Amino acid sequence: MSNFETWLAALPNNAATGLARADGVWEQVRSQTLPRREVLDETVTALGMDVEAAWDGVIAGGTLGIVLGLALVQRGWRILVVERGALQGRSQEWNSSRLELRELVSLGLLTPAELEEAIASEYNPVRIKFDGGKDYWVRDVLNVGISPAKLLSVLKKKFLAAGGILWEKTAFESATVHPDGVSLILKKLGSRAPVGAGGQGSADAYRSIGDSDKNSDEVSQFEQIQTRLFIDAMGHFSPVVRQVRGETKPDGICLVVGTCAVGNEGEFGKNDTADLIATTGPITGNKKSAYQYFWEAFPASSGRTTYMFTYVDASRDRPTLKQLFADYYDQMPAYQGLEGNPDELWRSLEVKRALFGMFPSYKNSPLSAPCDRLIFVGDSSGCQSPLSFGGFAALLRHLPRLTDGIHSALTSEKLDKKSLNELQPYQPNLSVTWLFQQSMSVKPGDTPNPQGINILLDRVFGEMAIAGESIIKPFLQDVVQFPALSVALMRTAFADPLMVTILVPRLGLPALTTWMRHYLSLGAYDVLDRTLGQLKSDDNFRLQQWQAAWRYGSGRDYHS
Ligand SMILES: Cc1cc2nc3c(=O)[nH]c(=O)nc-3n(C[C@H](O)[C@H](O)[C@H](O)COP(=O)(O)OP(=O)(O)OC[C@H]3O[C@@H](n4cnc5c(N)ncnc54)[C@H](O)[C@@H]3O)c2cc1C
Repeated sequence: MSNFETWLAALPNNAATGLARADGVWEQVRSQTLPRREVLDETVTALGMDVEAAWDGVIAGGTLGIVLGLALVQRGWRILVVERGALQGRSQEWNSSRLELRELVSLGLLTPAELEEAIASEYNPVRIKFDGGKDYWVRDVLNVGISPAKLLSVLKKKFLAAGGILWEKTAFESATVHPDGVSLILKKLGSRAPVGAGGQGSADAYRSIGDSDKNSDEVSQFEQIQTRLFIDAMGHFSPVVRQVRGETKPDGICLVVGTCAVGNEGEFGKNDTADLIATTGPITGNKKSAYQYFWEAFPASSGRTTYMFTYVDASRDRPTLKQLFADYYDQMPAYQGLEGNPDELWRSLEVKRALFGMFPSYKNSPLSAPCDRLIFVGDSSGCQSPLSFGGFAALLRHLPRLTDGIHSALTSEKLDKKSLNELQPYQPNLSVTWLFQQSMSVKPGDTPNPQGINILLDRVFGEMAIAGESIIKPFLQDVVQFPALSVALMRTAFADPLMVTILVPRLGLPALTTWMRHYLSLGAYDVLDRTLGQLKSDDNFRLQQWQAAWRYGSGRDYHS
């Protein structure tokens, strides 16, 4: 057994098993053997649903589902959240910034005091650094660590207090969409209290769930319920998403590994600043599969979090998460400025938890529902940029828009496919980021300059930093705006025309042509938001959604 294998086997929370499981899924993604079953169908037969007794919305998946659930319950809707496991956030912080977090307060989900309570760490400034380049520092970007455990606990309490119903240890099994409602089959796992018969949306139903705890053995394992709207918040690997996306391979994958660890004072980074993105070396791998490693580091409440990540496609020869972890083990101490043999350095660190994940992204995003009465929210929707693994932060950005949109859809009975898909519209500012993802990854068989990605990124970020905070900050917060992007591109092209001429053939004409279309759309959305976006929309559902699409699609929600 290598030192790495020994270290891996000793990681807390049985991380080695979890990693092997995640690698199993990654292998299925690469080989297109991810299990898939028909969980969603549509019929023209009416359900004959009793609207008074049915739920207004059932949200499957509680992690981010509870955030939207609370927002909707506070607007007076009868909402059921169904969670396969126990609804509890992980211990590892989500990194975000106050700009995004303030949405929780402005929507009335948290009081300012409750938000402060959930904030586990805060630090400034944060650094951007590419191997061989300069250090760039920014303030107030990804500089707050929020405790998912605390956040979800308070949201859950408030959701229940506001009349929302939560069924934990209950899995979504299947959905049949009828013209007048959705029939859902749920599966009770373990010892969840059973659903009381009838009155599903009412406070009585909540009591009946609590009361029936004692005779939970008497109910069948499967349960059928009815709802006006079905909200899929089951994450990237939602069974509904798998069915809808079908055989399509993800267009990009971000693979992430890392730890949260503690060392002796001064021994493990200077734990009061963060790296938003950094590189410490050239492109690595081989001709079949080359890739660039990126790093992030954050102070956390229980130590220092360091992530190593890379952007790849889903081709067969890509590395496993375990291979990435082995490289992380070798390289992390040096990245954090620790000198010496990695084996000894790791022995001087206490690993609180191992972190890993894979984030598939699709150019066809946000995902449109194929039928009426269905909407995707959170990771399942693919609404975050392919560069980011900040799905929580992405949801917060869109939460006011989604809450208003779903509220209007329920109020005006606009639950048809066309109307609901207007709540997850095309966003040019998301689509333009695909070219950045491609310029930060290497196609199989390509042999670019090993330092090519570092040189490019150092140049682009250097120009953005010179152009000022109004240019660089939205970009770093995953909000690409037309004026800022145009300035950054022009400055880079003038500063280094040679680099641009090298990059163009590497990216290829088809990718550039597609990108140009999104870039021009970004410009058009910018103009539309500045002009028609200001029209009074009153109760006009369609105009409201178009205006939201222009605002968010152009990134002009950033300062609003
Ligand atoms: C290593 C790592 C670091 C991250 N760091 C950050 C960060 O710093 N900042 C940030 O903003 N984000 C971060 N994220 C991303 C963030 O965790 C996700 O975006 C967020 O968890 C997405 O929530 P979700 O509810 O959409 O999906 P998920 O987290 O996948 O949750 C889906 C939920 O659905 C439930 N579910 C699944 N199937 C069923 C079913 N059949 N029936 C009922 N329930 C079901 C699951 O149990 C789960 O609770 C990180 C993720 C990882 C892995």
